[in-house]
Amino acid sequence: MEARPMASVKPRVFWAALTGCLFCSGVSTAFADGEVNVYSYRQPELIQPLLDAFTKETGIETNVLFLDKGLVERIQAEGVNSPADILLTVDIARLVEAKEGGVTQPVLNDPVIQKDIPANLRDPEGEWFGLTTRGRVVYASRDRVTQKDITYEELSDPKWKGRICIRDGQHSYNIALFASMIAHHGVDYTREWLTGLKNNLARKPDGTDRTQAKSIFSGECDIALGNTYYVGLMLTNDKEPEEKEWAGAVRVIFPNAADRGTHVNISGVAMTKYAPNRDNALKLMEFLASGEAQEIYAKEVFEYPVLPGAQPSDVVKGFGPIKPDPLSLTEIAAHRKEASELVDEVGFNEGPSN
Ligand code: FE
Repeated sequence: MEARPMASVKPRVFWAALTGCLFCSGVSTAFADGEVNVYSYRQPELIQPLLDAFTKETGIETNVLFLDKGLVERIQAEGVNSPADILLTVDIARLVEAKEGGVTQPVLNDPVIQKDIPANLRDPEGEWFGLTTRGRVVYASRDRVTQKDITYEELSDPKWKGRICIRDGQHSYNIALFASMIAHHGVDYTREWLTGLKNNLARKPDGTDRTQAKSIFSGECDIALGNTYYVGLMLTNDKEPEEKEWAGAVRVIFPNAADRGTHVNISGVAMTKYAPNRDNALKLMEFLASGEAQEIYAKEVFEYPVLPGAQPSDVVKGFGPIKPDPLSLTEIAAHRKEASELVDEVGFNEGPSN
């Protein structure tokens, strides 16, 4: 989700030790029992329905600190006195950053989490797990693209020359996709593939995933790469109805549906290293792994629940079925650095060179 600065939607927010009160509601006491403190990269309005359901079910109050960056650094700076219990975020890059930054602790042998969350979507050492997935799919022009199936590999085929749009190659969403290509095909193949993709671009990589849908709507390009949930967000955007037109110009094609499946990334959760409310944090994590919570969350954010059997929103179902690539997120994370180096090496962000 694009981070957008916003105020808390909840009056009951908490005081954070080092840098003072972010939301300044006058709450400055130590935390009572019966609470859990969530540091979130996800916007408060997206997670509030979920947290409200948790409070209703357990009686445990939740406090949210939202920042669009720097949460790991903040937890590091707060050290043993950090009030954070739970870190809620999107993208494997940020989950790995939290683990490598030493701000998480393993949650192992929890029967609910171990049983319900697929192994490829959680850390083998138990330091994070996925809550929802998002596919990195092809947005295809409804008017100008007739083919129904596509593969990522095919995006380097010269038949797409001048027809593809994409955001910055170094963005974490693209890096994870490119890292998955390295995991499947190796560095040499991926270098050649990225060069082919770059030479098929209609313009230099730019904008957000939404921008790519706009570029298809305007006729600048015929296909683009973007995350599934943006199509849902745009199709239902009553505040900026022009986005409905952009999304309406686009058909979602799930790449590699006939073979390994579509690359997915996750939103996920981790328990912080010094969680002061560990028992409540574990209850919240178990709740997040439940079918009830998964459906609330997935519908709010137009993503896919990780729990088998839990349903996404009707809008998302309307894209058709997704077959996710079962590659482990840990394997993808292991190739992120190589992917980033390849993006620079082939001059991806400079756009087409011939
Ligand atoms: Fe996003």
